[in-house]
Amino acid sequence: MRRGGALALFLLFVLAAPAMLPAFYVTLFNYIGLATLVALGLVLLTGVAGIVSFGQQAFVGMAAYTTAALTTLAGASPWITLFASLAVTATAALMLGAIMLRLSGHYLAISTIAWGIAIYYLFGNLPMLGQYSGIDNVPAISLLGWTLDTGRKSYYLIWIVTVAALLAARNLLDSRCGRAIRALRFRSVMAESFGVDTASLKVVVFLYAALLAGLSGWLYAHFLRFVSPHAFGVNAGIDYLFMAVIGGASQVWGALLGASVLTVLKEWLKDILPAAFQQTGNYEIVVFGILMMFLLHRTRDGLVPAFARLFPPGPARARPADAEPLARRTKPPPGQPLLELSGVEKRFGGLIAVRDLSFAMQSGEILGLIGPNGAGKSTVFNLVTSVLPADAGQIRFEGERIERATQRDIARLGVCRTFQHVNLVSSMSVLENVALGAHLRGRRGTVAAMLHIERDEEERLLAEAARQLDRVGLGAHLFDPAGSLPLGQQRIVEIARALCADPVLLLMDEPAAGLRYAEKRALAELLVKLRGEGISILLVEHDMDFVMGLVDRVVVMDFGEKLAEGLPADIHADPAVLEAYLGGIE
Ligand code: ADP
Ligand code: MG
Repeated sequence: MRRGGALALFLLFVLAAPAMLPAFYVTLFNYIGLATLVALGLVLLTGVAGIVSFGQQAFVGMAAYTTAALTTLAGASPWITLFASLAVTATAALMLGAIMLRLSGHYLAISTIAWGIAIYYLFGNLPMLGQYSGIDNVPAISLLGWTLDTGRKSYYLIWIVTVAALLAARNLLDSRCGRAIRALRFRSVMAESFGVDTASLKVVVFLYAALLAGLSGWLYAHFLRFVSPHAFGVNAGIDYLFMAVIGGASQVWGALLGASVLTVLKEWLKDILPAAFQQTGNYEIVVFGILMMFLLHRTRDGLVPAFARLFPPGPARARPADAEPLARRTKPPPGQPLLELSGVEKRFGGLIAVRDLSFAMQSGEILGLIGPNGAGKSTVFNLVTSVLPADAGQIRFEGERIERATQRDIARLGVCRTFQHVNLVSSMSVLENVALGAHLRGRRGTVAAMLHIERDEEERLLAEAARQLDRVGLGAHLFDPAGSLPLGQQRIVEIARALCADPVLLLMDEPAAGLRYAEKRALAELLVKLRGEGISILLVEHDMDFVMGLVDRVVVMDFGEKLAEGLPADIHADPAVLEAYLGGIE
């Protein structure tokens, strides 16, 4: 059975389950649905965006307590408190996100634990919330004259929400914003250089994960009809994280798989272990902990990949259809001042990587920037694209000062780059990686992406990416994972990605490294063609034959300083250059 068929079968099973299963299992399924929602948030937050959170249960709890308190104390309808619950969760997430997302790595994870503990004790100590005994008699939800007061009746509401959330998350990841989210984890510098606002996007993902947890909490309170702090302790937060990781932390369906496996396993262990040991006790937690260590040891990518092998993928994805081309910017006519550096300096501690560097390039030019390893060439790229701030000097682009601009501002001006150390999202397809380059040429946001109502724009973005890939000769690799290509070709993918941004100025950091002779020739031809289209190119490259046959002018750097500047032929004959750069050979 193919994957599409498996999905259809799963949906059919979800639909039919309450009619076939005894009440106990229906309730178990409800718990699975509720946990899936929270784990799904963690898949996006932790697995995809790389933001580890041990604190999702706190959002579940906040929503559950909000609805429990408002319905029991104020007699509000659960449908009204749904909005209140989500509003409380969202407000907390935005406030926390503003503080915590500035932290990174371990610090962020630890601060989510701290927040989880604080919320647990808040619930347990507020008399209004019933302290550790919680709030009971939470009313059931009424829907179209139905009161959802049994597990069987709650089932459909829980699962409609869960399946909708799974599909929305899948849609989101398969979109313009989704590609940006998938780059957050390891490639945020690259994403910024194509105009992605990574800080805001992290907040959006954090908010989305919190809202899913909030939805779960609201459903939980009305399904169980009771809330108490114990369900929202740090333990629960760890369980949710386990679910996401065991399922396959970067996969939407991993949330479902992880939540199912863990919920069922726990229930099952709870039954058999006391019987096996012939006395009561929480043995399941001990066994569970050991199983967890074993599973994590064996399957880093979770269970989804193993599961996916059972079902072959659907038919190969079709090449994007030729959609209406995206708007292009007008390029400046040749011979205008384009990029100008004057007195630019960059220090790393005691090391002066770029010293009093001045040079200018005109539109329509291919300028070679050469020099030995460590001369400061890549640092110049980082200064021009604002990855690093300059310590002194001025940088102008089309006459405007840009040395204080952000990476995103620079991207908007049409300055795009490739990276010396390849900066692709290796698990994403070649096509998606390249489409990320066109981020600023699209507009549609996360909500449109979840609903898949941005498909026209998406088609145009993907069609553009496919065109650029054809152009660099990688049209046969659209759907290969980018990480599976040889390194030389990955550099070419980077060029296609930069072209996808419709650049005015293209900065290329050693694009020909790792290419074979014929590939280098093809690349040289491409660069000449691009110049013909009005794109200006600043090229760092070690292969002198490649550079000298191609560029209009050369700037030579050594130890951070400009050593020479001129036509390739003059540079070739300059004794100082030969001495420094070629070590006096010839
Ligand atoms: P090139 O690209 O010409 O080989 P780079 O610009 O990468 O040279 O590096 C110039 C010098 O600056 C080198 O000595 C390098 O070690 C140093 N350098 C580059 N980036 C950093 C950084 N982020 N922190 C500290 N030193 C750096
Ligand atoms: Mg370099």
